[in-house]
Order: sequence, then C-alpha cells, then structure tokens
Amino acid sequence: MSSEKTAEALPEHGVTAWSQLIGHDRLQSWLAAAIGSHRFSGSFLLVGTPGVGKRTVAKLIAKTLLCEKSPPETMEPCGKCEGCIQVEAGTHPDVVTVAKPKDKSSIPIKLLIGEEDARMQSGFCRDVRIKPLRGQRKVAILQDADFLQKEAANSLLKTLEEPPPGTVVLVIGTNEQKQLPTIRSRCRILRLGPLSVDDTVRLIRTAHQIEAGEDAIRGAVEMAGGDVHAAVRLLTSQSDHLRQSLTKQFESPHPDPMLINRIISSHVGQAGKEARLRREAMRDAFSIAMQFYRQRLRQQAFASLFDQATLARLDRSVRALQEVDRNANQATLIECYATDIAAATTGDPGGSE
Ligand SMILES: [Zn+2]
Repeated sequence: MSSEKTAEALPEHGVTAWSQLIGHDRLQSWLAAAIGSHRFSGSFLLVGTPGVGKRTVAKLIAKTLLCEKSPPETMEPCGKCEGCIQVEAGTHPDVVTVAKPKDKSSIPIKLLIGEEDARMQSGFCRDVRIKPLRGQRKVAILQDADFLQKEAANSLLKTLEEPPPGTVVLVIGTNEQKQLPTIRSRCRILRLGPLSVDDTVRLIRTAHQIEAGEDAIRGAVEMAGGDVHAAVRLLTSQSDHLRQSLTKQFESPHPDPMLINRIISSHVGQAGKEARLRREAMRDAFSIAMQFYRQRLRQQAFASLFDQATLARLDRSVRALQEVDRNANQATLIECYATDIAAATTGDPGGSE
C-alpha cells in the first residue's frame, strides 16, 4: 500500500465514464484500440495543459483495466463493482499513486523509493512491484512529473523501463519539454491536445460547476490562454474582486502605483505561502491587466485612435507575466510593474532579453 497518501484523490470533475469525457476523441480511440488488442502495458507519459483532463483520463484508464464486471476491451467500466468504486474513491489497492505534496516544491525521493536508510521498503517504486491484491494488474499514476528533480527521476528509471508484466505506469505532466530526457525516453507519449473554446466552456460549466455567464467564461478562458485551472481561478469571487479593483486603477487617467502594488500584493498574500500558489496569483493579476489593455487597444483601433501608453502598458503586462515564470523576486516584480504601469513605460531595460 502507498505509504503516504499525499496524492490528491484522483477522481475529479465527476466524470465516471469515457462517454462523459470532454474532448480527446483521438486519444480515446487510440486507447480503445490499444486496450482492445491487449497490448496496453508499460510506461506512458500523459501530457497536456493544466485542467485539460489528464487525471480524469488516468482515472478512466484505471477503472477500465480494473473493473471486475466489464472486460477492458469494452471501454465501459461498470461503475458499480468493488473495483470501480475503489478506483473512483481513490482507495483501490492496485492503483498506486504519488504526487507532489502541496507544501513541497518537488516530489521528495522518499515518496518514490522510501526513506534513505530503508530504500525500497516503501514508496511508489516498491508499491508498483508488489503483486496485485484484487485483480490481475496494477495501475501506477505519478502526478506532477514537472516537479521531478534529477535524483528523484533517476530513482524511477528501472520502474519505468521494466514495470512488472501487465502493469501500466502513467506519468502525468504539462508538457514533454518539462520532463527530463531520461523519463521521456522511457515512456510512450500520450498527448491530450488543447480543448476547443466551446469544450472548455462546457468543462468549466459542468465539471467545475461555475455558473458565470458564457461571455465571462469565454473571457476567462482567453485570458488564461487555455489553462482551465487558471480560468476557473479567474472566475471565482476572489478574482472578481481583484479584477474590479485593478480595472478601476487601469481606467483612471492617472493610475496610482502604490495602489496597484497594494492590490496585487494583497492578492498574492492571500494565496498563502507556497511559491507555486503565489506565482499563480501573480499570473492572475497580470493576465487581468493584459486582457484589459488588449481590449482597450482594440477599442482604440476601432475608433482609429492610437495610444502609445496603452501599447506600452500591454507590453509591460506581457513582460510581467513572463517574469513570473523566471522566478523573479516577487515583491520587486510587483513594485516595478506598478511603477511602470503608472508611468506607461514598457520597463524594457534596453531590449536586452
Ligand atoms: Zn466495474
């Protein structure tokens, strides 16, 4: 059994059958063919933008393979047997999962191969090796693979290269480039392509139960660049408040740098201490800014106006968004941003990128 159940429960969005999965038709057909021909085993890397449905697909695969009533090739797990119920509840003994703990910046090696003085006595790789308890095979799911460091990745190599017969290992990450070559080369890559805007809106409505209007959802999806989780965050009330207070500043003929700084900093502060959450909060703020200035530029173009200041502010917001990912000092980044927005400068230090 998994020694530390730190993984977020796999079930999400209430999708319990392949027919309810939004998008990914091609992947679904491929899986049906592979599972149908009994050749579906080994290690796979499941990649796609956040919120696109990777964990849902992993859960559906587990259910399909471990259902005790319907044979896998039907691709119709019954949903009622003990196997299905346990996969759904995240308690199936033959589903091994590991994920980055919320308070860590990477996946600790001990979650993979056990404590330093007792290697392979616990952890993901050990659990994969143990014989299935309920059925014939095991499904191992490693989430948050973007956060694997080299040593941890190396500890996985044997497991990925030679999983026990019939075992399926699903490694989940946002894109291939973020995975170490050692991992990439040992997995077959399964891509979850981006969802259409319509599908994304449907997903946000049904799975995330957000009751915002169609336009608001479309706006958020556009703002978030297709990242469903970010769009959902933008649609929640906390972000509404952020958007309102920021928009008020952006609309003013003389935005107040101190206020902009305070609004963004307090939004980031509310996100908590974890770096990833704080970065997400910053991204939300800069996305709202980008959307605002992009829209304003469009309106101006429509009225045959051209305002250098709007362009500079849009440019500055795009740059800020990029800086978030480069791990720039957060307080400094927000402060410089607020100052540049107020002064309508791009903040480009001579174009030396
Ligand atoms: Zn079943």
